[in-house]
Amino acid sequence: MAAAALGQLFEGMKAFKGSDKRVRLFRPWLNMDRMLRSALRLCLPSFDKVELLECIRSLVEVDKDWVPEGKDTSLYIRPVLIGNEPSLGVSCSSQALLFVILCPVGAYFPGDAMDSVSLLADPTFIRAWTGGVGDYKLGGNYGPTVLVQQEAKKRGCEQVLWLYGPDHQLTEVGTMNIFIYWTHEDGVLELVTPPLDGVILPGVVRQSLLDLARTWGEFRVAERKITMKDLSRALEEGRVREVFGSGTACQVCPVHQILYQGKHLHIPTMENGPELILRFLKELKAIQYGAGAHDWMLPV
Ligand SMILES: *Cc1c(COP(=O)(O)O)cnc(C)c1O
Repeated sequence: MAAAALGQLFEGMKAFKGSDKRVRLFRPWLNMDRMLRSALRLCLPSFDKVELLECIRSLVEVDKDWVPEGKDTSLYIRPVLIGNEPSLGVSCSSQALLFVILCPVGAYFPGDAMDSVSLLADPTFIRAWTGGVGDYKLGGNYGPTVLVQQEAKKRGCEQVLWLYGPDHQLTEVGTMNIFIYWTHEDGVLELVTPPLDGVILPGVVRQSLLDLARTWGEFRVAERKITMKDLSRALEEGRVREVFGSGTACQVCPVHQILYQGKHLHIPTMENGPELILRFLKELKAIQYGAGAHDWMLPV
């Protein structure tokens, strides 16, 4: 039977084995919400979020011996929904395949050394645009990025910094959200990330970092557009402390360099500790591997 799989979407989440050997999922409700939004956007059949989460919970329970126990390890969970209507037309899919793949993963940064990455910022490549679907985790958003990632490698960079608009706004890093910890031009110390205005993927880790920082209340937390001009000026004036990406795979990933308009901009993230990054990682780990109950964790 022909299956024209025009609609494809996925999720990425993790289960952690706590210090008490119990397995827990990290904020899975946010992934279920995002997955259902994606399904509706692609006109794929809807599903019951609570029921799917219960299926995933049972699956992880069956496979709980595959959740690794080592430091910084986890079980990566990849739910997928693919339309498989037996038709060649471009139309709503009344049938779809929903499956979930599990994979044990080791520490993202082997050893204790945290690796920082360099980025290629080339405005000729655009990941997402206003009115588009960049704020959904659809397969179609990712296929076209692989070639750009290869281009970054060719130019000696590890990841892509996706810019947008004539003012070269910083939007995302590869498949991570971006954060800057700096002294804003008004003199206030702040953590800033672009707002969810349609071109930004609403990351679960992004939300978690914002939640943590707001609870601490020690510096301003802003969701605001950031342009390359803002960043270049802040770098010249020595106001930038840390730049990093956030996502389920690495949690938080430091950035040390950006190649932009033929210039290598050095970002002093590592020289600055990186104090905030290490604090975020520590707090997240305490929640993810902690033995106690936490609002963000669903025991398996
Ligand atoms: C998945 C993804 C993220 C990070 O989302 P998390 O839920 O934190 O893993 C950020 N940006 C893009 C483009 C993504 O695909």
